[in-house]
Amino acid sequence: MYTHSLKKFDPEIYTSIKKEQQREEEGLEMIPSENFVSPAVLEALGSVLTNKYSEGYPGKRYYGGCEFIDEVEQLAIDRAKQIFKAEHVNVQPLSGAPANLIAYSALLKPGETILGMDLSHGGHLTHGHPVTFSAGIYHFVGYKTNAEGKIDLDNLRAMALEHKPKLILVGYSAYSREIEYEKIKKIADEVGAFTMADIAHIAGLIAGGEMNNPVPIFDVVTTTTHKTLRGPRGGMIMCKEKFAKAVDKAVFPGMQGGPHENNIAGKAVAFKEALEPEFREYAKQIKKNAKILETEFKKFGYKICFGGTDNHLLLIDVTPKGLSGKEAQIALDKAGITVNKNMIPDDPRSPMDPSGIRLGTPALTTRGMKETEMKQIAAWIEEAILNFKDDAKLAEIKNRVRGLTKKFPLYPTLK
Ligand SMILES: *Cc1c(COP(=O)(O)O)cnc(C)c1O
Repeated sequence: MYTHSLKKFDPEIYTSIKKEQQREEEGLEMIPSENFVSPAVLEALGSVLTNKYSEGYPGKRYYGGCEFIDEVEQLAIDRAKQIFKAEHVNVQPLSGAPANLIAYSALLKPGETILGMDLSHGGHLTHGHPVTFSAGIYHFVGYKTNAEGKIDLDNLRAMALEHKPKLILVGYSAYSREIEYEKIKKIADEVGAFTMADIAHIAGLIAGGEMNNPVPIFDVVTTTTHKTLRGPRGGMIMCKEKFAKAVDKAVFPGMQGGPHENNIAGKAVAFKEALEPEFREYAKQIKKNAKILETEFKKFGYKICFGGTDNHLLLIDVTPKGLSGKEAQIALDKAGITVNKNMIPDDPRSPMDPSGIRLGTPALTTRGMKETEMKQIAAWIEEAILNFKDDAKLAEIKNRVRGLTKKFPLYPTLK
């Protein structure tokens, strides 16, 4: 048996990990899909559970020796049920994209129609972008947001009546407003469609009681566990009892093999954290922080897509400031602030160099940053964007960023 430590045996990988840790410590992480897990979650991820094959489900495995694995997976399932008031939960999906593909395969036959949100209006690649595998299997049509930036329910209903989809899909990656699940469920019932919500981005806000919960209303709900929910990288499917068998079969053996039980243990730990009263405070603060950014950016004269934010993220058109989303992303990187370039609704520019940037507050809020820091950061972002060609200025902002991050240590116990 090997007894070496990572540091001794593989200094190259060890050093890269430590450099990444330092990058995370010293930068301002504002990509809205990112977050920082707790040391307890990291411990579960790095555990011996990674060694075990456990195809099947608790109590019904193909291999022997699964008694402790069963305890882990059952805890993850029970906690997720409690958080989201779900009738049935499958915690095995490896990530958000496969969870969506699996959910489609559980509900639909090839060639059937899915009505999802147009990508440039905030949808996700897996909701029908032509480059994806699922777009070759199912027929996707896209609804849009209206001039006020809300989901256009009249347009959605008209499209549902016209295309007779088998599935209506909500839940987004760049959309910043609340979703009216009951109204969408009513439209789906009218045309005989299943309902699916992909809450990958907002699961933590729902868990914290800060956003509407689709789980009691919709047929199937997919999510990632690593965004606002603040668990390890992974996926999860929740559904009504009547879809339980179809979903479980679609996960295994339909799409996946052995579940990653170390990762499922990490999910269970994160769910326990999400059930603590502190998590409700966390979710509340995420939204407060996003509102501060909205107010500040509006003051600076930016156009906020969808008219503002009800969640953790903002999609901002930066072109009125004389630069593209890509140029803004590069400038902010140089200033130690990580955001991502993003299409705005009906973007006249290309996906590789779009008009907008998308930024959010989950990761900064995990570090303990609040209103005062948000105001400061908004001012630095504005300064970096106004000086996007001035490398000396951007380096100076980066210094200030480092000063701020030192006051909010991320992993003080992980040296
Ligand atoms: C992030 C995201 C996904 C994909 O999750 P991965 O874990 O990256 O596969 C799916 N749907 C939505 C809405 C997302 O935001």
